[in-house]
Parts: sequence; C-alpha cells; structure tokens
Amino acid sequence: MNYYSLNKKAPNTSFKDAVIRGIAPDRGLYFPEKINPLTNEFFSILDSLDNNEIAYTAIKQFIGDEIPTEKLKEIIKEVLDFNFPVVPIEENIGTLELFHGPTMAFKDVGARFMARCLGYFSEGNTNEITVLVATSGDTGGAVANGFLGVKGVNVVILYPSGKVSEIQEKQLTTLGKNITALEVNGTFDDCQAMVKKSFLDEDLLKNMQLTSANSINVARWLPQLFYFLFAYKQALAKGKEIVFSIPSGNFGNICAGIIAQQLGMPVKHFIAATNVNDVVPKFMQTGKYEPKPSKTTISNAMDVGNPSNFIRIQHIYQNDLNIIRQNISSYSFSDVETKTAMKELYENSDYIADPHGAISYLGLKKYLKDKPNTYGIFLETAHPVKFLGVVEETINRKLTIPSQIEKVMHKEKKSIKISTYLELKEYLLK
Ligand SMILES: *Cc1c(COP(=O)(O)O)cnc(C)c1O
Repeated sequence: MNYYSLNKKAPNTSFKDAVIRGIAPDRGLYFPEKINPLTNEFFSILDSLDNNEIAYTAIKQFIGDEIPTEKLKEIIKEVLDFNFPVVPIEENIGTLELFHGPTMAFKDVGARFMARCLGYFSEGNTNEITVLVATSGDTGGAVANGFLGVKGVNVVILYPSGKVSEIQEKQLTTLGKNITALEVNGTFDDCQAMVKKSFLDEDLLKNMQLTSANSINVARWLPQLFYFLFAYKQALAKGKEIVFSIPSGNFGNICAGIIAQQLGMPVKHFIAATNVNDVVPKFMQTGKYEPKPSKTTISNAMDVGNPSNFIRIQHIYQNDLNIIRQNISSYSFSDVETKTAMKELYENSDYIADPHGAISYLGLKKYLKDKPNTYGIFLETAHPVKFLGVVEETINRKLTIPSQIEKVMHKEKKSIKISTYLELKEYLLK
C-alpha cells in the first residue's frame, strides 16, 4: 500500500517508508492511497471471528506485502495479548475498557504495533533508528514498554520534570536497555518544541535516522481501529444502532474509529468529547478552525490546543462541514463536570472511571438524550490508578494498585536531566 502526504508536496511512499519517516518531507501527514471496504460477509460473521483474525483482515490492505503474512499475524498476536471488554454501565450504555495492556493505557496497542513494525523493517539494517518522543504522561510509558528490547531501535523520551504523575514517571524511567528518559527542566510544550526542532536539524538528519512515535505515525495510528471492531462485535447482540464516544486530544484514536467506518463497520456516528481544550467543538459550531495554546486540566492527556490528526478527519469527509456534522458530534466539558460525572458513575453504576473516560461518558449522555434505540459505547482510555490523586479525592475512596503498576513503583528511576536544545543535540550525536 502506498501513502501520500496530505500537504501534496512530497512523493508517495511505501508503508515501510511512511513508518520510518513518521512525517512526510513536506511536513504533511501520511494517508493511505486507497481504503477498500471489507466485505458484508466479514461483518455478518464478525461474532464467529477471534480478535486476531479480525485485526489481520482489517489491517492487511494497509501494509500490503511489505510484511509477510506469517510475520504480520505474529505481530498482531503479540500486540493483542490482553482483553478489550465492553462493560455494561446503563441500559443503553457500555464502556470499552482499553486499559488492560502493560502500561494500562490505550496507547499500548499503537505503540506495540509500531515498535514491532519498525523492528521488522530494521532487521539486518546497519543504521540504527532513533525514535524521539515528547510526552505529557501516557505516551512515554506506552512507547517505552512497546519498544523495549527491539533491536536496531533506540528510544529517547523527553518529559517535563515534575509535571508527570509518579506512576507515569516510573513507567518511562525504569526500563533501561534501549530506552533513555531525558528529564527536561521545562514544560511539555518545551519538550515538544525540542523534538520538533530535532526533526528539522540538518546536523542531526545527516547523522541519524530519526522518527517519531506519536499518532501522526501511520503504524501507531491505524492499529487503533482494531478495538472499534472488537467492541462493535460485542455490542451487535443489542440489535440497536451503535455509536462510539471517544475522549479526544490529538484525535488519532477517533480518526482510527472513522477508518473502521470507512472499512464498512456499520456505525453512523461518533462523538468527539473534549475537555476545555475545545478547538474541534468550536469548529463544529462555527466552521472556523482556530488553534490555541493548551489549557491545563485534570484530563491532561487531552490538553491539546491544535489536534494533529484532525486534518485526517477533514480529509476523510472531503473537507465538507455538513458531512463532518452528519458523522461527528463534538462537546467540551469542564473539570467540574468531569468530577461530577466520575461521582455519578461511581454512585449510580458502581464504576470507577478515570477523568478521560468520564468525559467520553458525558459526551455520550449528551448525544443519547432522546435516542432510545441507540446503544452507545464510551472509550475508557486509561486505568483510574494512572490518575490516582484526582480519582481518589473525587470518589472519596482508596484504589487498589494493580500488580503491573505495583512492580514498576519499586524500580529505580534513571533519567538524564537537560535544560536546553543544545544538550539534547549533544546527547543524540554522541
Ligand atoms: C492520549 C490519550 C487520549 C487522547 O487520545 P488522542 O488519540 O490523542 O485523541 C485520551 N485519553 C488518554 C488516557 C490518553 O492517554
């Protein structure tokens, strides 16, 4: 499968090249040249297929023959070795729990898939690939875990000192091997700016193959469509129209759901729920897309002022605001509303949600009002312990720490402190 740049000023390229580059030379995002819908038969026998078969059928056209069938199946099996349950919450509402992977965030799926693709493509290569990534929290842990021990790939993670939770910091600083954590004396925006600068720095580009591991990379973005199909399969028996509500920051996750729809998944509507970083809800109202600096919230993985994947969504729906509105509703919620929803879910449904899941629940409730024949699934993108302080305080009880988190809390943190871009550059060149 070939990919083109959405800026249309770079040559089309293979899947392999798109994964290794991350972003096109004209700074555009890569997009698959063609999306061939899956057969009606596939959707009618969905509930007789297991997750690995569903995933393989859905992804193979995006990779073509660039990864051999047996290898691709092996990658899928390794990536998907945990559960994706839809847990009932209310009569017409369920939540798709995406936090049963190694770092307890949905980003595990994309990060593990990308790591294995890159590992395959760098087999026998003499040049190592360096993955450079800035994180405000969850990306770092998922990328570190996904890439740990992948030969031919070094991972450098930049995170803002003192601004990620203790659990998140441990997840990205304790692994060692091919993973290095750079603790930046600054904010997430500073980390992000340093990463962006590296990708444009000729001295670096001459000396090394740099790529990014955020959702602009097609190998991290596309596998996220798998679990929309897994959830759809579980909800089929309800015999109702199905909609998904997705807590959105960079809009990669929801955009993968939309690709599942383009593949023929009979879902007509998506809800993009955001916190007060409301560029997209505003755009849906006014038709004007106006990026802004991000505001800090309790759902901090969605504190994004200029969602990088929204351009892919606009492209899919032909940049037509009416078509976008037919397919997507978008709502924004404050921290106070988020906490109220967390309390409500706990008191009425005995369910502990993290702040991101609570926002997708709120979006779904708003959309489902006066739609009794619709079954809604909201995505729970992280385990509540990853936002321990705010969850415990909001629902007024202690949480049990799962074993995979407990283990990492006892490990020793190893990071390299840096303050300037020059220090990053020196580290990368040494
Ligand atoms: C990254 C993240 C999101 C936002 O996902 P996007 O694909 O960037 O829209 C939502 N919730 C959690 C917990 C996350 O880590």
